Amino acid sequence: MTDQDTHRVIPLMDLRPSGLAVPAEAFDAATRIQADGLIADRRGRTLRDLRISVTDRCNFRCNYCMPKEIFDKDYAYLKHSDLLSFEEITRLARVFVAHGVEKIRLTGGEPLLRKNLEQLIEQLAGLRTLAGKPLDITLTTNGSLLARKAQSLKDAGLQRVTVSLDGLDDAVFRSMNDVDFPVADVLEGIEAARTVGLGPIKINMVVKRATNAQEILPMARRFKGSGMVLRFIEYMDVGATNGWRMNEVMPSAQVVQLIQSELPLVQLSASSPGETAQRWGYTNASGAHDTEAGEIGVISSVTQAFCSSCNRARLSTEGQLYLCLFAEKGYDLRSLVRGQASDADLQSAVAHIWQGRTDNYSEQRSSLPADQSAPVKRVEMSYIGG
Ligand code: SAM
Ligand code: SF4
Ligand code: SF4
Repeated sequence: MTDQDTHRVIPLMDLRPSGLAVPAEAFDAATRIQADGLIADRRGRTLRDLRISVTDRCNFRCNYCMPKEIFDKDYAYLKHSDLLSFEEITRLARVFVAHGVEKIRLTGGEPLLRKNLEQLIEQLAGLRTLAGKPLDITLTTNGSLLARKAQSLKDAGLQRVTVSLDGLDDAVFRSMNDVDFPVADVLEGIEAARTVGLGPIKINMVVKRATNAQEILPMARRFKGSGMVLRFIEYMDVGATNGWRMNEVMPSAQVVQLIQSELPLVQLSASSPGETAQRWGYTNASGAHDTEAGEIGVISSVTQAFCSSCNRARLSTEGQLYLCLFAEKGYDLRSLVRGQASDADLQSAVAHIWQGRTDNYSEQRSSLPADQSAPVKRVEMSYIGG
């Protein structure tokens, strides 16, 4: 049976739910939170990482994310006036940074489709962490426009990029992006990013068992020793449209086993708290990590939940704060930003929302029967980013 045969598309539901109102106590004199500084949620997870979606549009139609059947010419994308402006994004980012965020990832949709994105990067590059350091600013892209934009992104203050690449075989790549986009152009984009110093570059490969598992070894061979970190992502049940099935997920343990059969690996420790990828280094003749050969990462969101250290908040394209990739709804910060809220109000709002957070979807999924994801109306990945 081919991947095409097994691909079910779930009917379009409410893909962009209206936002939740920020809890009233955030603004109440008695309960508002005056101070900035670090905030922990109800499971003790400290806010550190903010992902900002800058557009809900994309020029690819990866069937695990924006299947053509749903995201067709009639699909109603957000109007420009619905998107947060760069000034609004920067104002909100400043609030998150005052609460301890040190890393910002721009995503989408395809972030490089957002006009003048460099201006936003310049504004964000001006922010400083609580420790007075520049933020770690990065971006996840499908790479299609990277060859053209790498230099201007670097000049604007972007430090590094993560490029999604689901295979090296042109036919496989074209079928996965489903718009017949050639792999050579993405490889050219990656090269341009390397040349201008947008590194260390990470390469993300989503593995769908029946579609691109045969690309795992060629990808590993290609990026070994390149200075880039190749990361294999388990196909997730994000959103409500991709017709996810467990039998299309290739567990990371099998990916590691497959690579090990040709290129020996040794497990490495996490490089930062809340790191999503498990790291494996290529070994030298004596079995130790060969740093020149580099490493791979595996992101096992399905088979090994990492909710207990999840320190990421997500700001959607139209300014809703999501506490989990699998959340049903986000909190409407845009109406505050466009209303009368002061920066202190915003700070109190973000603190209240984060302090009430209990989300741990992947852990809950592990307790469900195989081949089943939780029956919720999850937000689409293209709307809040990866
Ligand atoms: N368009 C950009 C890109 O593809 O890199 C940024 C947005 S995309 C939503 C962010 C990341 O999410 C990509 O690396 C993509 O491969 C990953 N992704 C999307 N849908 C996924 C799914 N169902 N399972 C696992 N990863 C997914
Ligand atoms: Fe577009 Fe990225 Fe989603 Fe693919 S994964 S459809 S490139 S947003
Ligand atoms: Fe974080 Fe939600 Fe993913 Fe768990 S399921 S790691 S809480 S985003």
